[in-house]
Amino acid sequence: MRSPILDYLDAIVEQTGHIDSGAPADYIPELAAADPNRVAVALCTVNGTVYAVGDADHEFSIQSMSKPFAYALAIEDHGLDYVLERVGVEPSGEAFNELSLDPETGRPRNPMINAGAIATHALVRRDERPAVERILALFSDLAQRPVEIDEGLAASELATGDRNLGIAYLLHASRRLAGEPSASVEGYIRQCSANVTVRDLALMASTLANGGVQPNTGRRLFSRRTTRQVLSVMASCGMYDAAGDWFTSVGIPAKSGVAGGIIGVLPGQVGVAVFSPRLDGHGNSARGVAMMERLSEDMGLHLMEAG
Ligand code: GLU
Repeated sequence: MRSPILDYLDAIVEQTGHIDSGAPADYIPELAAADPNRVAVALCTVNGTVYAVGDADHEFSIQSMSKPFAYALAIEDHGLDYVLERVGVEPSGEAFNELSLDPETGRPRNPMINAGAIATHALVRRDERPAVERILALFSDLAQRPVEIDEGLAASELATGDRNLGIAYLLHASRRLAGEPSASVEGYIRQCSANVTVRDLALMASTLANGGVQPNTGRRLFSRRTTRQVLSVMASCGMYDAAGDWFTSVGIPAKSGVAGGIIGVLPGQVGVAVFSPRLDGHGNSARGVAMMERLSEDMGLHLMEAG
């Protein structure tokens, strides 16, 4: 028998069908070619059961939703204090690609904006593999399948990546970059170009909901403390310059990406992922935000809700 949860998720897709404002990101030529009408929703409980509807097997690039996981890996590699000395945890209130560092400390303000994410990428330890290979291996462990890079997309973004290169050189000039600027940006862009589905993302989010243990394999991928740190930063800085709006209306730690995905995490309960490529003025998926608002309302996800 079909689960009533799937019927409920179908209803969310249907009820938000009228939202056609915004447009796919176009600063990366390949992203502009996305079919704007695709839509998908998935959730994964901390027992590892995935419920997914819509274009649930459609692959799209993870983009900035990669940032919390790379941050977790950097903390696991070096310890929290080391990472905190290099990347802050204050919301910036600025756009994701703002060319700015904290004037007092010279650190990037947080790991969810590009400056902090490029610095974080450069902190991920290379073994015999480049850092991005370790990050991909982590994505694969989280999603329980081999996650791969969309090479065409990575090339398209690299060719137009001057702004991120500018950020990396600024970090380098402030002695805040652990790697060489162009290699760090290339690795970061490849990290963002990993292809995932909402199913993958729901599993990835559910690992964060489950305190760092992948619910199906039982593997601990992050410590509880690291997971708490990542979720706290997602709560305060995850939704670009709309973080306050998001937290008051949806009320769960989340991260969006410019390909149109959003992940959300209700600690101890569930990981959620939505996808719809048209973005609002903050760079968040317009229909995705509406779908998340409904899920939060109907399922009582808001963390500040009593009872
Ligand atoms: N690769 C993108 C960039 O750095 C990620 C942007 C995003 O999803 O916010 O521009």
